[in-house]
Amino acid sequence: MSKKSPHSTPDSVHSERLPVNPRAEDAARSVFVALGSNEGDSTAHLTQARLFLQEISSSPIRTSRVYQTEPIGPSDNDFLNAVIHIDWEGSPEALLDRLKEQERIQGRPSRYPKWTSRTLDLDIIDFGGLILNNDRLQLPHPAAAERLFVLLPLYDLAPEWYEPVTKKAISELIHQAPEMRIEVGAWQWE
Ligand code: AMP
Repeated sequence: MSKKSPHSTPDSVHSERLPVNPRAEDAARSVFVALGSNEGDSTAHLTQARLFLQEISSSPIRTSRVYQTEPIGPSDNDFLNAVIHIDWEGSPEALLDRLKEQERIQGRPSRYPKWTSRTLDLDIIDFGGLILNNDRLQLPHPAAAERLFVLLPLYDLAPEWYEPVTKKAISELIHQAPEMRIEVGAWQWE
């Protein structure tokens, strides 16, 4: 039988159970989420999505300006786009699940052709600099490097940001991105 530790008082038992090095996935990660909408009441959809992101963030969110952009592909309606910064305590997959659920709640069918109109699109643009490529998730999101409707609102929040794979600065990516019609939208957050 092992000898009882002289330190095993209730207090020390409690402190021994505390992790010395908290696991990485327990720490809040700094995450940028891109929002887009070009169907239905887009301003209402962005407002509802912002409230949702505030609910799931472990600290106050930060929001970019709202941009109005030309649609890519067959869709006729302009998009409203923005980026919101949240702090997320959990895995990237768990966050993706929450975002997909919110898209569904806000009226988006689970199956849809690429590039069609959508009531709400929520994408994880950057997850604390994590690089990931699996069946469900690509991080950073490929659009982060090449689409002005992501880069310009991201620049509003993080002008010092750089793409984690290529290490290119966001200002350089903005200069290299294909041109598109994009303007600070007539509508802004209240
Ligand atoms: P979307 O058409 O933009 O809603 O994306 C459709 C699918 O892209 C999602 O169901 C995800 O599995 C996948 N995906 C890959 N990388 C990402 C990412 N960084 N953020 C969001 N969705 C992603």
